[in-house]
Amino acid sequence: MSQPGVPSSGGASTGLQVQNGAASSLGSPYVNGPVQNALMSSQVSVSQGYNSQLPGPYPHLMPAKTSLNPVSAQNNYGGSQTVCTLSNYQGPGQTLNRPPMVSNPVTTSLHSGPVPRMPPPTSQIPAATSMPSGSFLAGVNLPPPLNWQYSSPSTGSQTNHCPHPSSQPSISGNTNVTTNHQHVFSGDPSLQNSCLKSGGTSNTSNESMVVHNSYDEIEGGGFLATPQLTNKNPKMGRNVGYSYPSLPPGYQNTPLPGTTGMPPSSLNYPSGPLAFNQTPVGANHLTASVHGLSLHPEGLRVINLLQERSMLPTTPLQPPVPNLHEDIQKLNCNPELFRCTLTSIPQTQALLNKAKLPLGLLLHPFKDLVQLPVVTSSTIVRCRSCRTYINPFVSFLDQRRWKCNLCYRVNDVPEEFMYNPLTRVYGEPHRRPEVQNATIEFMAPSEYMLRPPQPPVYLFVFDVSHNAVETGYLNLVCQSLLDNLDLLPGNTRTKIGFITFDSTIHFYSLQEGLSQPQMLIVSDIEDVFIPMPENLLVNLNESKELVQDLLKTLPQMFTKTLETQSALGPALQAAFKLMSPTGGRISVFQTQLPNLGVGALKPREEPNQRSSAKEIHLTPSTDFYKKLALDCSGQQVAVDLFLLSGQYSDLASLGCISRYSAGSVYYYPSYHHQHNPVQVQKLQKELHRYLTRKIGFEAVMRIRCTKGLSIHTFHGNFFVRSTDLLSLPNVNPDAGYAVQMSVEENLTDTQLVSFQSALLYTSSKGERRIRVHTLCLPVVSTLNEVFLGADVQAISGLLANMAVDRCITASLSDARDALVNAVIDSLSAYRSLVLSNQQPGLMVPFSLRLFPLFVLALLKQKSFQTGTNTRLDERIFAMCQVKNQPLVYFMLTTHPSLYRVDNLSDEGALNINDRTIPQPPILQLSVEKLSRDGAFLMDAGSVMMLWVGKNCGQNFLNHVLGVQNYASIPQTMTDLPELDTAESARTIAFISWLREQRPFFPILYVIRDESPIKANFLQNMVEDRTESALSYYEFLLHIQQQVNK
Ligand SMILES: [Zn+2]
Repeated sequence: MSQPGVPSSGGASTGLQVQNGAASSLGSPYVNGPVQNALMSSQVSVSQGYNSQLPGPYPHLMPAKTSLNPVSAQNNYGGSQTVCTLSNYQGPGQTLNRPPMVSNPVTTSLHSGPVPRMPPPTSQIPAATSMPSGSFLAGVNLPPPLNWQYSSPSTGSQTNHCPHPSSQPSISGNTNVTTNHQHVFSGDPSLQNSCLKSGGTSNTSNESMVVHNSYDEIEGGGFLATPQLTNKNPKMGRNVGYSYPSLPPGYQNTPLPGTTGMPPSSLNYPSGPLAFNQTPVGANHLTASVHGLSLHPEGLRVINLLQERSMLPTTPLQPPVPNLHEDIQKLNCNPELFRCTLTSIPQTQALLNKAKLPLGLLLHPFKDLVQLPVVTSSTIVRCRSCRTYINPFVSFLDQRRWKCNLCYRVNDVPEEFMYNPLTRVYGEPHRRPEVQNATIEFMAPSEYMLRPPQPPVYLFVFDVSHNAVETGYLNLVCQSLLDNLDLLPGNTRTKIGFITFDSTIHFYSLQEGLSQPQMLIVSDIEDVFIPMPENLLVNLNESKELVQDLLKTLPQMFTKTLETQSALGPALQAAFKLMSPTGGRISVFQTQLPNLGVGALKPREEPNQRSSAKEIHLTPSTDFYKKLALDCSGQQVAVDLFLLSGQYSDLASLGCISRYSAGSVYYYPSYHHQHNPVQVQKLQKELHRYLTRKIGFEAVMRIRCTKGLSIHTFHGNFFVRSTDLLSLPNVNPDAGYAVQMSVEENLTDTQLVSFQSALLYTSSKGERRIRVHTLCLPVVSTLNEVFLGADVQAISGLLANMAVDRCITASLSDARDALVNAVIDSLSAYRSLVLSNQQPGLMVPFSLRLFPLFVLALLKQKSFQTGTNTRLDERIFAMCQVKNQPLVYFMLTTHPSLYRVDNLSDEGALNINDRTIPQPPILQLSVEKLSRDGAFLMDAGSVMMLWVGKNCGQNFLNHVLGVQNYASIPQTMTDLPELDTAESARTIAFISWLREQRPFFPILYVIRDESPIKANFLQNMVEDRTESALSYYEFLLHIQQQVNK
């Protein structure tokens, strides 16, 4: 086997050099045509990000970094301890008279205060930087990539890094048998391997030695959890929230609330009662017929990419369908929820190594679903060995025994399971909903709880420094909260609270009965404490008027502030303390680089280094935010960060607070309520989604796979608590995850393998629920079959995740090399090991025909691009997106869809609910495809751009844009008027249809030819050459050169 991590191709450095700007020296084998140059030339220098047209940051508003606020510095006070002064809030519309600030004698030395614990310089990070460069894949058995280890100061269990997979087989801990199945599951909250469980009635001896504390933290949460509480009050959890119909064993097919935004048509897997009318199937009946199926002939084609240049399908690229018997495949998990980079799993690691393709899973486990089967049953049937949930791919040996598809143990069918609640027939366990749905949700019985499910708790933390007030964001956020207050997911137990901060921290007492909110100021940021903790997080129903009162007044309260300092770290500490007893969600709004107290940061971006691949600060400058995030995670608290800043704010450091606590990062560069209306609209839309979308609390997720496979690296926002248990204090429906896998033991004895993810969470209604997805894939023994089953989108998504890690553990240029080598290595393997006759050209299997294009798109993506002026925070944000976005949105961001829309017709249109939705073909991302007499829509996931050519027809201008002529298209136009014309109806129907397919609301920018934002539009023209990056054709030539070496 090749040495781990050592690239097998010698082309690493070559690839990089070419990528980094030697393009022009290559000669020009392929010219994109005169149109390109005309369009490109005027724009190249402006290529900056979506806001390049906007007024720049507001430097005069930036706080002086070192000067202390004179007020707080002068206010000495004697009390060392709790410095709390109360100030009665004077009511709406008035500026608060803040009481004299008291400050600790220590504050005189505040100059040293803001200096955070600085980690050693990046170069000293041990071992992490010694990662060999050039390839992800040489030897997929490489030690788990150095995921998350860049924050060097924390070690051991503090690292969000999966321990070596060798411990995985310990899943088979619990072999004791009890006849009462309720007891089998009791105290074993769903996701927990039996070896990790605590509080069960039948623990074997080896269970007690394992990480009980982590389990308690994750599962039960902190100090509220006492085993007695749960065991003696098994009903406790069910008393909260709305009661669920109790018809055990019962089955409901419950549409979940808040599932707008996804057309039913996008759900292909069977759901609902109808699905159960089919003939009973069990995987054991079908495995024999798996082979002998052939792919669609198109899929067997070998393609010379240098000859067939337009391989991009004109309709959205569909994931490959696993080569399974249709009776199995129709039960399989929807690829939008769960997919694998290789839909045919190589039998051995050696075979996988040969293919040089990454093996991994991409998950969108909590996606909003239109229909979700929900099972309420006293018995949740799981494998007694490996704790897998019974699923469509198990085999029934007879009515009374089923064989686990992950560990092959034969289990008994519990008596309750013999009855099918759907058909009300006894004796057909194979027809139970659990065995008919690859995606299913269980209502967890109270035995699955270590403490009563937590209430929904929302804490909002607002930056109210001068800088923040200048952006005007507070007005919008407070208004949005007022508008959506009744839509916050929750129940009668929902709690809410608010903290504001500048150089001090302000709390708001909202206790029921007060006539108005009461502000409490804590100026001792060195040792933050919580004044009146019981009144700060209040029941939303009981204190709604006070909350509304506060939200109406908050934006005015600080309008005259001169406070320039930002004590974000201490404010977060306060928020953490406030939330610790319950868990919940913290939403932080920050507008500048924090510069006071713990967690203070220093500017370290060097603008003239922005386009370079070297010496940029991608790693956190302090471990403060990561450590705090881990504390939060331990108390079931997640932190979502909204960064609205025109200046460098060190997102690399700040983002850790969300990454490790399973939160999300939102970024609005140069947010300003007047100067940047587009960002205002974006924030408004995203806040609406954020505030109203589903949320799961105190969640954990575990992914299991068939014996022989092993999961070794996780990507996403979470903390890996034990071997493979992801701690997710919050889970939201817009978060994606990825994992890397390897083949540990040969899979020669099996034809099918399965993967199962199980997400245990507390709903906003206070129910404990388990959402389970199971994916089944065939095992293959030849390299050709592995290639034929490759899922190029999933591969690109996983590679992007790996590349982000590589950027951080090694360098950006190293990551770029590795991306290029991933293409070279796999296509070389295909050429030398699969193709029998060596033809000239760049030969690829049909499945990988878009691989070079997507990797080129990755290289031009904000995360990995070089040669253009990418602001550091924007790059880091793009990397956050790579890690946290579900695959389908990530691919749209990386390789947007381009449509011509000035000539939409009803030909081939979809008809959905009496709406006619045109289906224009998807165009290649090249200016060759544009023309000045047309209008082109680019769908880039979270943003859409409609470029209108200078000579665009009057028809489109008048009947779609509603303007007289080209010149009268407004500079900032972000909406199309609803006109009474067929053209308008078609265009709007098409754009709405695109929007409906995602849960967030992409803003539409209408771009005129001279609009500065056109640079962004052109930057997405992945196939074209720029000053610093190859064209698609040049890239193919480079790949070919390396492959044919
Ligand atoms: Zn099992």
